Amino acid sequence: MTRAERISVTTTDRIAGLRLSHVVQPIAKPVSDAKVATGRQSPLAAVDLLVVEIASEQGLTGMGFSYTLRAGGTALAALAREIGPLLIGEDPNRISWLWDRLAWRTNSLGEGGAAAQCIAAFDSALWDLKAKRAGMPLAHFLGAYREAVPVYNTSGQYLQATIPEMREGAEAAIARGIGGIKMKVGQPDRAEDMRRIEALCEVTAGRVALMVDANQQWSRPQALSFSREIDGLGLAFIEEPLAARDHEGHGALAAQLATPVATGEMLTSVAEHRALIRAGGCGFTQVDAPRIGGITPFLKVMALAEEARIGLAPHFVMEQHIHLAAAYPGEVWVEHFDWLEPLFDERLAIGDGCIHIPDGPGFGLTLSGEARAATRDTHVIGSMPAL
Ligand SMILES: [Mg+2]
Repeated sequence: MTRAERISVTTTDRIAGLRLSHVVQPIAKPVSDAKVATGRQSPLAAVDLLVVEIASEQGLTGMGFSYTLRAGGTALAALAREIGPLLIGEDPNRISWLWDRLAWRTNSLGEGGAAAQCIAAFDSALWDLKAKRAGMPLAHFLGAYREAVPVYNTSGQYLQATIPEMREGAEAAIARGIGGIKMKVGQPDRAEDMRRIEALCEVTAGRVALMVDANQQWSRPQALSFSREIDGLGLAFIEEPLAARDHEGHGALAAQLATPVATGEMLTSVAEHRALIRAGGCGFTQVDAPRIGGITPFLKVMALAEEARIGLAPHFVMEQHIHLAAAYPGEVWVEHFDWLEPLFDERLAIGDGCIHIPDGPGFGLTLSGEARAATRDTHVIGSMPAL
């Protein structure tokens, strides 16, 4: 048997077709973080998604997605049309090999960035399909260290919310069974940040965890000074105190604090995460599967994180990250956002501070009628069952 014959002996199934959809999901009440407070960005009013559905010759289907904020939705969709045909006729089980093919095809765009975010939609659809073939939730397919993952809420605590609105949002989240509240800080007016922290501490103290997120808007001296001021509050973590790629700065800051630093949501490659973790820059990695190129590279960062004995608090997209965080043996948090809920028929079960692994195979997600209605553009490659 030749080497080529040996590696072809996997399954007899083949990818028959793909449906690529650009979905724009509005956010009912646009939100502002510190990047808006410092004048760098405008309020976030929508999430652009690239949704990939894959059909196999044996009649299995997989659905995955990635996303972008503020810009790049049409670019991801256009790139997906270009690289999608590479998958037709291939064995959907050979995810690592297919990921490599897609990465080499987009190599000229650079490792990470929009190329990784486009590949992520294909990669996650392939993992969904593979877990469905095995008849189990993706979390179980990956080894499920736990059945439920601690969850915190962010969406009620953006900077446009007044203090009474923040309190109300936190109380509603706690009543729902959510185990932590994350609030935005990093405004130019530091005293206002402190007033908001004190107000939320009154709500969360002794009940649920509290985290703060500065969205990269502090300088190194500002981050050190502010973080020292709040270091005794028992926060679960201080997020993105510095520029996303200031690995050295994060390492130096983390060494001076008792509170863990959480960061990594903006990084788009395993190499960037390796550099951050090696610099001692995070007590929690916030690796984001859609941003880093999907589940295949996410698992590599998970291995780096486990080796470094740090926690895992993936950014956004709880619908995918519940499965990945459930497979991690260290400390974990998943971030609750209801922004993408209208896109799926299912709802994640929340209680006792945790999200539970959904019962259905794969991600356990079905695209809703609303998702079809929010689709700007659809492109079919190969043979797909009709909608
Ligand atoms: Mg953040």
